[in-house]
Amino acid sequence: MRYLGLLMVGFAICNLLCGGFVMAEGHEKIGIIVVDVQGDFTRFKDGSLAVEGTDEAYVRSVESATKRLKDMGYPIYATQDWHPKEHLSFYTNHKGKKPFDVIKLNNKDQVLWPPHCVQDTPGAEILIDKGLIKTIVKKGMDPNFDSYSGFQDDGGKKTGLDQMLKADGIRKLVIYGIATDYCVKATAVDGVNAGYKVIVVKGLCRGVATDTSNKALEEMKEKGILIIEDLDMEKIKAF
Ligand SMILES: [Zn+2]
Repeated sequence: MRYLGLLMVGFAICNLLCGGFVMAEGHEKIGIIVVDVQGDFTRFKDGSLAVEGTDEAYVRSVESATKRLKDMGYPIYATQDWHPKEHLSFYTNHKGKKPFDVIKLNNKDQVLWPPHCVQDTPGAEILIDKGLIKTIVKKGMDPNFDSYSGFQDDGGKKTGLDQMLKADGIRKLVIYGIATDYCVKATAVDGVNAGYKVIVVKGLCRGVATDTSNKALEEMKEKGILIIEDLDMEKIKAF
């Protein structure tokens, strides 16, 4: 017990010192989350759930922004939708349903999507250079729950992303990818709920639909998330 006490005092002192250092530096450690930049979500790869504006130029712009951030020393995390083929978010797994029908699943509205990002298929591949990515966080493996958020699925099961970020000392997240109105929003909001400062780079995101994307941006702002147009490091550092 005495050891534990000493350890805790030591930890508290270290925390104070480190905290002081971080404050003196005027910024918190930043982590980057690239959300679901995968074949099936892009026009570039003629994906089954291709989102508007996701041509090759878009993917390359995400890749070059990510490279810039990596070159600045920020760790890059990427989420990857990774479904079994019997996943309940696929309309094909519900008799008589069409793509984009909405049903109740686990007491939540569930959009029924075309089958997408099935494990070990080309459509599930992450399209940016994987050499840039520190860790890939897979999500949506449980056939019974969807997982827009990179932090947890709709059943509340954690992906391990939060633990990983905390272990790496990350306090601030820069998030972008596909889709603004679904996985980007859910990941950003869960980031705030987990105690991070969150910045979404709108120009590096693409949404399924304009109205839901605009609504998502408003909801994110209300949650205290900073929305910026492009990768403005001054704004990111100052937030
Ligand atoms: Zn999915």
